[in-house]
Amino acid sequence: MKRELVHRFRDPNAARAVAAAIHARSTRPARLMEFCGGHTHAILHFGIPDLLPPTVELRSGPGCPVCVTAAADLDRAIAMSGVDGAILTTFGDMIRVPGSRVAGRAATLAQARAAGADVRVVYSPLDALRIAQQNPQRPVIFLGVGFETTAPTVASTVLAAEAAGVDNFFVFSSHKLTPPATRAILDSGKVALDGIIGPGHVTTVIGADAWRFLADEYHMPVAVAGFEPLDILRAILALVEMIEAGRAGVDNAYTRSVQPAGNTAAQQALTQVMAVRDVEWRGLGIVPASGLAFGAAYTRFDAGRAFPLDLPPAREPAGCRCGDVLRGVIRPPECPLFARGCSPENPVGPCMVSAEGACAAHYQYGASIGGDR
Ligand code: SF4
Repeated sequence: MKRELVHRFRDPNAARAVAAAIHARSTRPARLMEFCGGHTHAILHFGIPDLLPPTVELRSGPGCPVCVTAAADLDRAIAMSGVDGAILTTFGDMIRVPGSRVAGRAATLAQARAAGADVRVVYSPLDALRIAQQNPQRPVIFLGVGFETTAPTVASTVLAAEAAGVDNFFVFSSHKLTPPATRAILDSGKVALDGIIGPGHVTTVIGADAWRFLADEYHMPVAVAGFEPLDILRAILALVEMIEAGRAGVDNAYTRSVQPAGNTAAQQALTQVMAVRDVEWRGLGIVPASGLAFGAAYTRFDAGRAFPLDLPPAREPAGCRCGDVLRGVIRPPECPLFARGCSPENPVGPCMVSAEGACAAHYQYGASIGGDR
């Protein structure tokens, strides 16, 4: 059944028909940003740029949670892994992401582990909670990164830890909210955009209505897309039609998952445990009301409070243009280090590390879309 569904959204004839409609309707330049790193990979994996007319340009946005984690947060997580007896847990991508490169200090969690820290990869925050229950004498810290999609699972895990009376489980929350980041990109004026491809998974949680401000306040068309080729092409067609008509609205091209109000149960778990705060994004700086900290009733789970550490200011990797890539100011191949010193095997910046990073996507698929490298 699932395979049939996938085939339906990969039907080559249907894709050609939607691409032909885009060609027929597009008469003026349309620069579209796909917010989500999952979209960036799907777009390049399926060769979607090759199907588009020259009027339509796609730019990647900041929707890779690993990539937008500030170097300062990485430095703090690495320092926390050195807390006496601590077990530092996180998702796989995070252990290779560089923080500050300073002689004599680990620049990644992988290096910290090689130097003796107990750093473990987990697949979900519940795995980290289980490790805490198995090691009651040791503090277990979960480095949580992600957007509105993953934050509710962390909030639910905290509720589970509270219910089970676990007192050695902590979360270093680097969770972020996507609409404020989109607003920050538009407010920066660094890149001119004509439309936004809205993130499918995030919007499943926050609801399509959460993007209405882009149409109302910025006159910016939005089309929420899933991750199959037809999902993305239909979203692009919806954007082109709005741009050609001079209209701004929110089109939901992912109705099999996204509802106008989103997933209210997930939203409630988040609201119960977390509170909105200003946070730093790699590439965007401090973005108001764009991050999640613990609400007053749950601060005892906050690793930042439990393990206060005084750290020097963070340093970005020398020469890395991840910040410009994440804001859509440049395409990854425009970075002078792209494929010349920076590769997935030897990443300089986070955009080349993550499975959702734009640089990694262009490196992996670039040859098939016009020879990025
Ligand atoms: S190619 Fe490497 S150095 Fe350049 S922006 Fe991407 S991650 Fe940074």
